[in-house]
Amino acid sequence: MSDKAIRKIVIVGGGTAGWMTAAPLALKLGPTCEIVLVESPEIGTVGVGESTLPTITYYNHALGIDSGEFVRRTKATFKLGIDFVDWGHLGNRFFHGFGDYGPPIENRPAFMAWQRLARDVKDLPPYEEWSLTATMAHANRFVPPHGEAQSPTNAYSYAFQFDAGLYALYLREYATARGVQRIEGTVGEVEQHPETGFITAVKLADGRRVEGDLFVDCTGFRGLLIEGVYQAGYEDWSAMLPCNSAQAVPSALADVKTPYTRSTAKSAGWQWRIPLQHRNGNGHVYCDGFMSDEEAGRVLLDGLDTAPLDTPRQLRFTTGRRRKSWIKNCVAIGLSSGFLEPLESTSINIIELAVGWLVQFFPDRDCSPELADEFNRLVTQRYEYVRDFIVLHYKLTSRTDSEFWRYCAAMPVSDALQHQIDMFRATGHVAIYDLQGFQVDSHAAIMLGNGLRPERCDQIIERMDPRSLLEHFQKVHATIRQVVGAMPDHGAFLAQVAGTA
Ligand code: FAD
Repeated sequence: MSDKAIRKIVIVGGGTAGWMTAAPLALKLGPTCEIVLVESPEIGTVGVGESTLPTITYYNHALGIDSGEFVRRTKATFKLGIDFVDWGHLGNRFFHGFGDYGPPIENRPAFMAWQRLARDVKDLPPYEEWSLTATMAHANRFVPPHGEAQSPTNAYSYAFQFDAGLYALYLREYATARGVQRIEGTVGEVEQHPETGFITAVKLADGRRVEGDLFVDCTGFRGLLIEGVYQAGYEDWSAMLPCNSAQAVPSALADVKTPYTRSTAKSAGWQWRIPLQHRNGNGHVYCDGFMSDEEAGRVLLDGLDTAPLDTPRQLRFTTGRRRKSWIKNCVAIGLSSGFLEPLESTSINIIELAVGWLVQFFPDRDCSPELADEFNRLVTQRYEYVRDFIVLHYKLTSRTDSEFWRYCAAMPVSDALQHQIDMFRATGHVAIYDLQGFQVDSHAAIMLGNGLRPERCDQIIERMDPRSLLEHFQKVHATIRQVVGAMPDHGAFLAQVAGTA
């Protein structure tokens, strides 16, 4: 090991981000590096991140976590996607699943053929009936994909819905078993090198000093190090994503644990329902400029399927991102680096990516600015991609029933997103610029689901015989129904995995 090697990492913050950072660092750096995590007994965690993307399965797999144990310990359920209700217009419903909408045709996504047929075929079943994940979700069935990835009945993935507090505890056990030292204390002061400006130690309120070579800021919205010490600055995206408040409440266990998250659009935002093994998680995300907190609480409680188990908890946020997430020897991960509302369950995914990039570009004690630049470029790109994808849901609305929705329909969006919408409307093609995240089918699900219909069709598909296309779809449709009909119920499969059957 070079004499410049980092010998001690200090993670400040023990929420989901802190422990999701500690676990892989402990695994990768093990005995060659001391890792300390400081968490405050006085300052709580956000603790409501419960719905995830399929990448959580890769993260857990990389740590060698057994999925049965994970499901048991975090009270997890399986997730195939998100059911959107009242988005686009009141009474509308569509599914954004983790999978393709049927096998590609002539290398074109299947939705293009559906568009072609929709023009001529009367009573064509809706687009999402070609979707395996939507069919599974609506029938409340679940098995993980297996066998050949490209088979029409296997081209999907899945994520988990889980108790974020239990997950952080589980990772804490994992990390401390691998040598991470946990210190309870509240950081008050930060010491810096007088010449380089690098952080040299954090001082706890009780006077203890914790020295280190690299500091990871996982202190949540406050960004104690990245903002408090380095004034990184915050890019505020409220004009495009005006929601700035949420109220969250658990409710009683439902009879049916759906293998999906539900998002219902409300008059000044939207409400989530996330089924776990022991309860439902619920929350109402809204903009306090368009609805009072009192009314938002009422809307939340009125929208519950089952009895509330507590009084709603108030949360505030400003959508946006830290201008830089890595400065000198300080790397911000989690809410300290930015926040996008949980409409597509992306925060934990961004933590996974950021931790992966930190491991990939792990520095020595000089912390080359080139590494920081690359990390910041990737994080910025990711936040911008996700922001545009979330804004797409709002921008395409035809709802005019409230001031909030009229604002969303008229608000300016980024050039990249405007291009996406214009291109789909004019040609039926999706502009793909997010290679690591939401792909063509995801964009098509949101655009078609919100009622955007292209003016033209793909020109290769256009030349195909519509009768053979229809026959092809009918076959796929029949196979999907048959395969899904033979799948176990989600609850039964869950009980089997969790060992409670
Ligand atoms: P926090 O949970 O705020 O943790 C901060 C930690 O820092 C705490 O341990 C605290 O004690 C410590 N700390 C702070 N100051 C100090 C100090 N001075 N000294 C010592 N320690 C300190 N994400 C998803 O992926 N899916 C979802 O469905 C989802 N839903 C969400 C809904 C809402 C309404 C919100 C607000 C967020 C949601 N998220 C979701 C995001 C998710 O909750 C967060 O990304 C995740 O919990 C990470 O939070 P964190 O660890 O960065 O911060």
